[in-house]
Amino acid sequence: MLTPQLEELIRRMPKVELHLHLEGTITPRTLLELARRNGVTLPAADEAGVAALFRYRDFGEFLGIFMALARAIVCGEDFERLAYELGLDLAAQEVRYAEVMISPMQYINRGLDLREVIEGTLAGFARAEREAGVILRLALDYGRQYGPDRAWAVLEVARQTQPLGVVGWSIGGNEIGHPPEPFAPIFAAAREAGFGLMAHAGEVVGPASVWGAINALGVSRLGHGIRAADDPALMAALHERGVVLDVCPSSNLLTGAVATWPAHPLRRLHEAGVPVTINSDDPTFFATTITEEYRRTLLRLGLGVDDLCATVLTAARAVFLPPAQRAALADRVAAELGALRAELGV
Ligand SMILES: [Zn+2]
Repeated sequence: MLTPQLEELIRRMPKVELHLHLEGTITPRTLLELARRNGVTLPAADEAGVAALFRYRDFGEFLGIFMALARAIVCGEDFERLAYELGLDLAAQEVRYAEVMISPMQYINRGLDLREVIEGTLAGFARAEREAGVILRLALDYGRQYGPDRAWAVLEVARQTQPLGVVGWSIGGNEIGHPPEPFAPIFAAAREAGFGLMAHAGEVVGPASVWGAINALGVSRLGHGIRAADDPALMAALHERGVVLDVCPSSNLLTGAVATWPAHPLRRLHEAGVPVTINSDDPTFFATTITEEYRRTLLRLGLGVDDLCATVLTAARAVFLPPAQRAALADRVAAELGALRAELGV
């Protein structure tokens, strides 16, 4: 149990979320509405049915459901709605800034115009920013299983839409059998184009995948990366190079990447000096929120208030905004956190 002061701190503290998939934020209600309007048959007929789908035995099953549900989203307007609803939801949780991923190959393979998808999403972000003040930016998370060759056309669309608010380039999808190294040339080009670089790694596959992501791809952030805790030399390298792990605690439990809460390595990583941030990944699919992840970090993962606040500042300093905007965000978050802690006496 947390004290009322800590509950209030978690609720009101300024938040920064760096690992969030737009498709995984859709509410069951919006999902059903879009599916009906777009004539897409879902493996569920009502909100309870959708909720029942979110019980996975493993990461493969999770990916399958994720892909099946994403089929309900078909046009730029749908993305605008999702992005706008997400922005309002995050603003209500005191999120000041979020970087949100979409999985471009899902849409390209279905014949959607990726540019329309991106423009719709960014229009929704802009509207949420105008109305609620939350800043949202987009990253493209390319599925490893599609191989490096098809990534070039996606990167080209990212380049064209960059001025609208695309800030990051990432790989995700199936980590098993798809090591990072073949993606090195595409990451070099993405860096050259001015994108921030990240990779999902060390979620399902062990330290080799994380070593590859930092050495061959040169990423400054890792999605999950928790398996780095298996390798002390790797933890030391992450600490020395300041590579940030965007950790998603509930996601790790529900996909089976971590067996139990006590087995979660977040605290070990933090104590080894690895920069970590706390994130929700796919809040709808994992029945969580960023606020709830902060709470679980205190309650179940053994981090203290100072540690939790440090993760928020780490996140603010690791965003893929231009340096002046990044510094302004970090200053704002630090000032707000300090004032709130003083007010609440925690
Ligand atoms: Zn992810």
